[in-house]
Amino acid sequence: MGRNKKADAVKLFVRGLPAQVSAKKFPFNTKYFITVIVLLSPKSIKSTIGCNSMYCINCGSECKLYEHLCGPCYIKKTKFFKLREVVKITLCSQCSAREKANHWEEYSSDKEAIDKAVIENIVIYNGIRSPNFKLELQPIRTNNLRATVSIEARYDDLKINAELISEVRLKYSTCARCSRVLGNYFEAIIQLRGADRKLDENELNLARTIVESVLTTLDHPEPNAFLSKVEYLHGGIDFYIGSSTIAKQISRDLSKKFAGKIKESSSLMGRKDGSDVYRFTYSIRLPEYKIGDFIKADGRIYQVLKILQKHIHCIDLRSGQTTQLKHQALTSAVILGADNLVYDAVVVVESDIEVQILDPENLKIVELVKPKNFQVTCENVKIFKDQDDIFLIPNLV
Ligand SMILES: [Zn+2]
Ligand SMILES: [Zn+2]
Repeated sequence: MGRNKKADAVKLFVRGLPAQVSAKKFPFNTKYFITVIVLLSPKSIKSTIGCNSMYCINCGSECKLYEHLCGPCYIKKTKFFKLREVVKITLCSQCSAREKANHWEEYSSDKEAIDKAVIENIVIYNGIRSPNFKLELQPIRTNNLRATVSIEARYDDLKINAELISEVRLKYSTCARCSRVLGNYFEAIIQLRGADRKLDENELNLARTIVESVLTTLDHPEPNAFLSKVEYLHGGIDFYIGSSTIAKQISRDLSKKFAGKIKESSSLMGRKDGSDVYRFTYSIRLPEYKIGDFIKADGRIYQVLKILQKHIHCIDLRSGQTTQLKHQALTSAVILGADNLVYDAVVVVESDIEVQILDPENLKIVELVKPKNFQVTCENVKIFKDQDDIFLIPNLV
């Protein structure tokens, strides 16, 4: 503390005392008293007079001090936050990414990117806790905005409110990722095909959903994790993926979901930074059957419930038993079809072990033994027809 400030503190200290004390009851000359205590620090002033309170060097209030000032004076005289007058921001015109020193940071909207940039430019006073920023952006002219930041924070036990204003100057460019997407860049193709069959709409939609969700929920996003092109062809679908690493991960997910077999191949595209650059193709072949299909194997009819890498879960329509069959054991199985072979049939009579139904094609009454756990729940039941053979479709299917 400078000598003058120290003198001020003493004056305030004296002024702060009750009048009769300062004028009459000092045991020594007031001038002398001042001369002595000018040489003492505020701390020693306190101990000298045996008082626990302190006085603000600005307004003289006796209260808790923050660097020799009372709370209100400290708040008034301290710049807790600083923001430069102009904040320059470069955004990607395609995806709201923001350019930083040597990379692009992704945001879900321009507003989010601008908010973050403005807040990052705020210099915060040491000791400020839990600052809460609220931003308001008002357009001034094209690519220029006025940012008003309202701040609430804590310093020690003081509540701090502040408002900062800055001009935001926007510049638009194209980020590295969008440049590649626009240029149809890809490092790998994933080809999804059915073995001797076309993929149906559900399979195509599910495949696309899986690819897109992997790309948007990566634990460690990488710049080339994008889908640059999708092609529907040869009864299947091709995905062109920016990153070969991500394509490999996606192809594993697809093969797991569809119980397909992956075949990987690559071709040399050239050299970059001293190493060979390859383009990869992941071909995934799905089994001939899909979930819901009826298949005939060893004289029995099954409906496919689940397809796994090595086997399928299916239900034997005659017995109603669920069972597992290996893909290898199904190489000579006949795929009969799916929903197109399922009919609604009217129930005529039901007993504990049998159901009589009307064959919807010729309206003849047919007696069928109920498979395991089969229940008639309404006037109709679902049946499956394989030429003259009729099967009740168990309820769990
Ligand atoms: Zn004060
Ligand atoms: Zn972009």
